[in-house]
Amino acid sequence: VTWAIRDQVLEALKADPGPGNGPSNKLFVPQTLRGRVIHWAHSGKFSIHPGVGRTLALIKRSFWWPAIYKDVKEYVSACHVCAQQKGTNRPPAGLLCSLPVPSRPWSHIAIDFVCGLPASHGFTTVLTIVDRFSKACHLVPLKSLPSSVVTAQLLVKHVFRLHGIPTEILSDRGPQFVSKVWKEFATVLGARVALTSGFHPQTNGQCERMNQELGAMLRCVCATNPSAWSDHLAWVEYAHNSHISTATGQSPFEVSVGYQPSLFPLQTGPTTSTPQFLRRARRVWSATKSALLRTAEKNQRLADRHRRPAPTYSPGQMVWLSAKDIPLKATSRKFAPRYLGPFKVVAVPSPMTVRLDLPQSLKVHPVFHVSLVKPVVSSPLCPVPAPPPPARLYKGGLVYRVRRILDSRPRGRGVQYLVDWEGYGPEERSWIPRSYIEDPSLITDFEASRSTARTPRGVR
Ligand SMILES: [Zn+2]
Repeated sequence: VTWAIRDQVLEALKADPGPGNGPSNKLFVPQTLRGRVIHWAHSGKFSIHPGVGRTLALIKRSFWWPAIYKDVKEYVSACHVCAQQKGTNRPPAGLLCSLPVPSRPWSHIAIDFVCGLPASHGFTTVLTIVDRFSKACHLVPLKSLPSSVVTAQLLVKHVFRLHGIPTEILSDRGPQFVSKVWKEFATVLGARVALTSGFHPQTNGQCERMNQELGAMLRCVCATNPSAWSDHLAWVEYAHNSHISTATGQSPFEVSVGYQPSLFPLQTGPTTSTPQFLRRARRVWSATKSALLRTAEKNQRLADRHRRPAPTYSPGQMVWLSAKDIPLKATSRKFAPRYLGPFKVVAVPSPMTVRLDLPQSLKVHPVFHVSLVKPVVSSPLCPVPAPPPPARLYKGGLVYRVRRILDSRPRGRGVQYLVDWEGYGPEERSWIPRSYIEDPSLITDFEASRSTARTPRGVR
């Protein structure tokens, strides 16, 4: 067996014989042919996109050139097929970006919901409002998960009334929910200003932890009073607010009002004058701020152990987008690539997020955390694959090539097919009527694959 690539190398050696210091049983590959040799070893039918090590081993059986490892590594990282199909075993990109540490009570709040509690006077849900400075909480029993309008009204009643307008609202329920609540909150107050809240998509998990703690307390109360837990909510709130918080080293009560509420009526300390009280409050707040900064630093160190810094992205750059959270039109995830794209970065709203130029058909919010994208690597050794084949004119209309049919569904009196278009990614898949399909073998192939897939139901 001889390969055309070997003849091409022999031919090129006539013009460029190489340095002559390589292994005698291997052919030196001149610069101009290195990309093609790597392509032969990496993308050939006999090889099917192995990693750097195996590609290198295959080439080294017959060829050599200096910097061969660097070139193969560069080619494989630029290979579009590999970039789309292969996951990564590297830790997620993007170090934990700590939330700003507030300087006074009730300026930065986090809201969330504990759902699915046993019905108590009709209540099944609790709105938790946590002050991120003092860690104090308010608990509000609800009959169901509220809309953003209702949530805004509840914030007026439980936060604004007691503590004024907060500067930031956070929620693990996502930026869309928070921005709606903000807008409604401003409307209820009669404020015309667009309250632009700082939004931190990377906070996932931080509010959640506070919520877990409150959830655990609530569930303890529910376990002993399943149908009357809502009567005990004031006690849960008191208990949480008077226990010492590990983040600040003091109880939320002490941090926000400057004294620990007494459990016994006679247990009052020496009387304090107003200036003394204010001085003490300020002292407590600055001590709290340093404690919070220390805690934030410690949390960051712990979180970053399992992460690596994200590459910096800039507008105009092309990236791959992880298909993990993208709802694709396909019944089988088997054919779905791990990464979609390439897509263009249109903006970098924060160091941890990128906004992408996505096709309309994807219907997802186009801002993503950096752990969900990876840069498109290009290399002169590995030319970018050709753009999708253009539509052809056929019977007076535009025709696209279909790679395969993925699914079918009844529509009206006929059938529609979900098609994967040749040269286009899964984000462009679409449902078309049977009459649009010119080649009947596509349908027979699909029917055949479906009947074989159906028989061993539930068996893998
Ligand atoms: Zn590849």
